[in-house]
Amino acid sequence: MRFIADFHIHSKYSHATSKYMDLLALATWGQLKGIMMMGTGDFTHPLWQQELKQHLQEAEPGLFELTPKHHKHVESKVYTSCKAMQRFMLTAEVSTIFKRNGRCYKTHTIILAPSFQAVEKISKELSKIGNIAADGRPILGCDIKEIVKIALDASPDCMVIPAHIWTPWFGMLGSKSGFDSIYDCFEELTEHIYAIETGLSSNFLMNAQISELDKFTLLCNSDAHSVQKLGREANIMDTELSYFGITDALKKNDPKQLVAGIEFFPERGKYYGDGHRACNVYLTPQETLDHKSICPSCHKTVTIGVHNRVNELADRTQQQASMYVRKHYQIVPLLDILSFHIGMSETSKRVQKMYHQMLQEIGSEFTILLTAPLEHIAQVSNKNIAHSIDALRRGDVTITPGYDGVYGQIRF
Ligand SMILES: [Zn+2]
Ligand SMILES: [Zn+2]
Repeated sequence: MRFIADFHIHSKYSHATSKYMDLLALATWGQLKGIMMMGTGDFTHPLWQQELKQHLQEAEPGLFELTPKHHKHVESKVYTSCKAMQRFMLTAEVSTIFKRNGRCYKTHTIILAPSFQAVEKISKELSKIGNIAADGRPILGCDIKEIVKIALDASPDCMVIPAHIWTPWFGMLGSKSGFDSIYDCFEELTEHIYAIETGLSSNFLMNAQISELDKFTLLCNSDAHSVQKLGREANIMDTELSYFGITDALKKNDPKQLVAGIEFFPERGKYYGDGHRACNVYLTPQETLDHKSICPSCHKTVTIGVHNRVNELADRTQQQASMYVRKHYQIVPLLDILSFHIGMSETSKRVQKMYHQMLQEIGSEFTILLTAPLEHIAQVSNKNIAHSIDALRRGDVTITPGYDGVYGQIRF
């Protein structure tokens, strides 16, 4: 079955996450966005885990749907044009901070689990290490290799996936607190790692510059902290509809089943370039080199972004890497496009009205961005918006890169 999947999201129990991120909102917005398979996020949090157990029932092996009672609440909120099947997979993210060989490492890791039994076992073990009730994404003072062991002990079918591997502070390969290779991090446990998450600031091409990453499935996920951000990255898959069908495709890195990645433009990621947010200083990797990594404004070391870090670890040029890249789309959330053309913020009444009108008359956001006929889009919105979606589909956009926590800007 062909579907769009987003494995990494957070619930209202995670730090800095919208209080509206509950299961009903996720199921509603999954349909409006066109994401059929969504991670639950945060399964380690006791209250969220309780909600998951109350609201979900197993639909296929290892995949869950809302119970009929809760499904009813969602049905009335989804436009007929967007109504679709909706499934959840039990997922969580943990933050580990640990010392190895006298150095401090910080990593974020996603865990996929096939059952509530596995989820309970993982929670029980993690609660011995740290306070899992403090945050939907718990912070644990233990080596990441311990997490792999705990997950695989809970169930051999669990998967451990390094999250947003390039972000400077919490990425497995990040410039500030990461390793120089996946093997350096997981050592003898590397054979249990099958997939990695590219994160918003890197794309398939950048990852293909590091030959070690060839053997890992590259996943694109939103890491959404609010419903609007769901699916800002996602995966088009074609697998048997079950936890095992999906994880089997991830383990095999099978291009037939991993149809395409849907990527954020990496330059728009807030850690793409080098620089200092407070000093308003953006540097390209070459400029950073010229300045010996010193900020020309405050004379302290600049934050090294993903572009620079990829260059540092790369053993292929972009041109050499291009032959290793599988199919992908680069997108911009529809609200950004509408906001650009209407000249008002994403939350403004005019932008919101247009957004919902398009969903109602055309279909889900992914349908609009990827496949809907341009004439239909023009009819419902206007010619300029249809033109921008066309430009997006052709990759014809200009981007001012993001850096040190500042998002990049896009122009059509
Ligand atoms: Zn994270
Ligand atoms: Zn500075």
